[in-house]
Amino acid sequence: MSHDALAPKYVRKFQCTGSKCPDNCCHSWNVGVDPETLRGYRTNPALIAVMQDKLIDNYDLKTKESSPAYIKLNPQTGKCSLQEENGLCSLQKRFGEDALCATCDNYPRHYKMLGNDITVTLTESCPEVAKLLIDDPEAMELSFAPLELSKKPHASIIEEQENYADRYQLLQALLTLLRHRNISLEMRLFIAGLLVQRAQTLLEGDDNETSMQDLCNLYFELTNQGYFQQQARELQKTNDGALGLVILNVLVQEKPNQHAFKEELKKALDGLQITGKRPAGEEQLNKLKEAWKKHLKPFYKKQSYALENLVVNWLIRDMFPIQRQNIQDGWASIFVRYLLLRTLSSGIALQQKSFEKQDLIRLTYRFGRGVTHSSLMDKLMLELAGKDLKSNVAFARALHLN
Ligand code: SF4
Repeated sequence: MSHDALAPKYVRKFQCTGSKCPDNCCHSWNVGVDPETLRGYRTNPALIAVMQDKLIDNYDLKTKESSPAYIKLNPQTGKCSLQEENGLCSLQKRFGEDALCATCDNYPRHYKMLGNDITVTLTESCPEVAKLLIDDPEAMELSFAPLELSKKPHASIIEEQENYADRYQLLQALLTLLRHRNISLEMRLFIAGLLVQRAQTLLEGDDNETSMQDLCNLYFELTNQGYFQQQARELQKTNDGALGLVILNVLVQEKPNQHAFKEELKKALDGLQITGKRPAGEEQLNKLKEAWKKHLKPFYKKQSYALENLVVNWLIRDMFPIQRQNIQDGWASIFVRYLLLRTLSSGIALQQKSFEKQDLIRLTYRFGRGVTHSSLMDKLMLELAGKDLKSNVAFARALHLN
């Protein structure tokens, strides 16, 4: 089914690599079956025979309505019970794509409905998506054009918040700012955080004299004049590493279910010489700095667009700042996700004594799976709020701005 859609370039290029996928999506997580497909599995005689011992009822009251059942995993391998030896889906092979539930049919796509328009992004937890995002400098170039959608596109509807036009304008300004490649990505994140903080006051009606358009133009102008460099230098003088320590100590306590993410986490903790016997401290903060200088900074120099593409993809996927009532909270979760990925990259770089594009691709899709299916981000946000570190100043201090 082809439909006009707003989508970045990489979405239009994406093709599932099927049996060639280095780590296909059919394992380790519960695939929720939507009610309509489930009815088919339980009423179509041909499907009943295949599916009756492959389903498990969902008793979770929060998700039961949208996914009344799950597809069973093979307890020995953790793989989907419908998966064949070669990694392909036996259900799809016998009955075609129409037999897939919406979860399998949609993955790795995210659909968002904004009024009558549909926006499509993909999750980086798919290896092919991670590769496209990290390989192509122009991966996030947006266009509105016909796009082949899934057979059962499951779109979440974006409620129009108050000040919709201002929020839309802010989204466009943030996209422009985050892709301003003349300055470092970390500096762009710093400026974007300042803009979000200021925009929040406008959305709350605390400043009736400035329009969102004027505010965004002012920030572009100041960015081009190098105005924020001075502020950055001042903030860096008082960097106490507090936020970095919270991230490290939350990572130490994390016990991921996803085997592949567990591997990446172990590598990172080894690289940072964190044993779990004592909390991370000054020594680990110095290691993070060492990793930045030796490995990540040179990598960013060669390929700054790789992480930029990931951040921009999160922004569009979350429809930030349109979807969020409190835009500072929305920005915080995007920003902390970035810091988390950077911290893991640092540990891995130290452990391997190198950090290349392939490492970021592998870490990205494993991170996508590990973080999406864990409470890691929630724990981190709670810790930061409890320690009063969920602020723009704390975020700015955690960046490498000079
Ligand atoms: S993870 Fe991505 S490339 Fe791999 S099988 Fe799933 S959709 Fe295809």
